[in-house]
This record gives sequence, C-alpha cells and structure tokens, in this order.
Amino acid sequence: MSKIIDGKEMAEGLRKKLAIKAEEFVSTSGRIPKLAVILVGDNPASQVYVRMKKKACEETGMRSVVMVLPEDSEEKEVISAIESLNGDDSVHGILVQLPLPRHISEKNVINVILPEKDVDGLHNVNMGKLIKGEEPLFLPCTPAAIIELVLSTGVEIKGKQVVVVGRSNIVGKPAALLLLQRHATVTICHSRTVNLAGVASQADILIAAIGKPRMITLEMVKPGAVVIDVGVNRTDAGLIGDVDFDGVKDRAGFITPVPGGVGPMTIAMLLKNTLIAAQLANARQFSKGH
Ligand code: NDP
Repeated sequence: MSKIIDGKEMAEGLRKKLAIKAEEFVSTSGRIPKLAVILVGDNPASQVYVRMKKKACEETGMRSVVMVLPEDSEEKEVISAIESLNGDDSVHGILVQLPLPRHISEKNVINVILPEKDVDGLHNVNMGKLIKGEEPLFLPCTPAAIIELVLSTGVEIKGKQVVVVGRSNIVGKPAALLLLQRHATVTICHSRTVNLAGVASQADILIAAIGKPRMITLEMVKPGAVVIDVGVNRTDAGLIGDVDFDGVKDRAGFITPVPGGVGPMTIAMLLKNTLIAAQLANARQFSKGH
C-alpha cells in the first residue's frame, strides 16, 4: 500500500458513485439536485474554487448556479440574495464562498442560509449539533474529507493521539470535533501554542490546517504518523501545502499531497451534501403531500 494518500483518485471513485445515486434520484423524484454558490468579489482563488464546484456538480448530473456579487456589496445585499435562494424550491443547497470581503460578517451571512440548505455545514444549527454530538444535517466539507482520508489508510482513529494545527470554524475546530466523536484524544494547536513541535510530534494523526507554506517539518512528525495536509498556499512555485512534503514523507506512515489530497475530497463531500439536501427536500415535499 502506498503511503501517499491519493485524494484525487478517492474523489473520482466517490464522484462516480454519487453520479449513479444522483441519476437514480432524478429518475425516481423527477427533481435535479441543484447547488447555488454565492461569490462576492473577484478573489482569483475563490473564482477558481467556484468554477471547480460548478463543474463537479455538472459532471455528477446535478445543476449549479453561481451568483456573483460585486466586492463592494453591502451585507444586506448578500443576505437578500441568500433569502431569495432560500425561497427557491428548485435550489437544494446554498454555499457562500469564503472568505467574504472584510466589511461583511461571515457569521451574519452564513446563519441566514436555511439549515436544510446549508451544504457547507457551517450554520449555527448544524455546527451546534456537531458540538453536541447530535447528527447535523450536513457535515462541513473539508473536515468530512479529512475523516475519509484518514479512514482510507486503515489506521484506527479510536484511542489515537490526534493533533490538529489550526482552530478555524471551517476546518480546525470541526475536524477536531469529528475526530473526538470517533474517540481520538484530540489536541488543538494554534498560533499561541507553546512548543508546537513538541506537541505535534506526539501525534499518531497530524492534521495541518494553518495556511503557512511547509510549516510542518520533519521534527514535528512522529515516525509512522498519518499526516493530512489541508493547506493550500499559492506561491511563485505553485500550490504548496502546510507540510514540508519532501522532508516529511519518509518519516510519515501516510501523507496527503498538495494538490491532490484534501482539495478533491472536499469537493466530493460538497456533492454528497448537495445530493442529501435534494433528498431531504424531496422527503419533506412527499410528507407534506400525505
Ligand atoms: P485560518 O486562517 O482561518 O486559520 C488558520 C489557523 O492556523 C488559525 O487557527 C491560526 O491560529 C493557526 N496558525 C496560524 N499560524 C500558526 C502558527 N505559526 N502556529 C500554529 N498555528 C498557527 O485558515 P483556514 O482554517 O480557513 O485554512 C487553513 C488552510 O487550509 C489554508 O491554507 C486554506 O487555504 C486551506 N483550506 C483548504 C481547503 C481545501 O479544500 N483543501 C478548504 C479550506 C481551507 P489562531 O487561531 O491563533 O490565529
């Protein structure tokens, strides 16, 4: 078994399965799962992500619509775009591409999305359920991708020392919660952590979600550890992860590359959530009619 975890290949496999399920859903329900993505501004990286999500939806037999709002949009304009999508029965999932321009509150905007259309899993209702160990309607995509990538190694999560470097609401915190739910002993590190190398090097499973190119180096990695690199850093040398891949790969038991690790699986999880959202909408409609 290769120690490089091939997220691209895993994602392709999952997308094929989802395409079959989507086709079955369309033929039985007469509805086509549809994702709406809101992009505020013209951040080049966000534009790339939005295009990738749209293409992935269409290749899986789902629809997608992208609403582009200008960088200087007011918060209330973004909220009103979400409200119109909330009220549109043909739209099953709504995603606001992050980050938003600084003058707009992510919290205010995300919490306007109906929880049953919150395919990014970031609404307070879904995130609150995750914290309480209740089943959210949708798992946040990148943390769900991290779990799938770890599971693919066959390494058991239960009882393991896990270190998550990064405590953002979209990656670090929910990833830590999902790993805790699977009975790992989880430590969360951040910019004020003292002796990061000492803490990280205890980890059987190390998750890097920092946004600093090649910050995780050899001495921070326990021999044989599973290393999941979430980082996507755009540099002159191209896309680079948070882990010094070349320096670490011989010591790690398993490691994800960048690109080709967490990224493609994150998109696959979004497709999965979009299909779930359409199935939930269909079930609600069905129960209303009976
Ligand atoms: P944030 O900037 O929101 O969070 C970064 C986290 O890293 C913070 O908690 C911060 O700590 C911590 N941190 C920063 N510097 C250090 C340091 N020197 N030592 C220890 N911890 C540090 O980023 P995101 O969580 O949104 O994203 C992280 C990375 O993952 C980025 O590269 C992003 O592009 C990528 N990403 C990739 C995705 C994918 O699909 N592949 C999806 C989402 C993100 P503090 O809280 O103290 O500031």
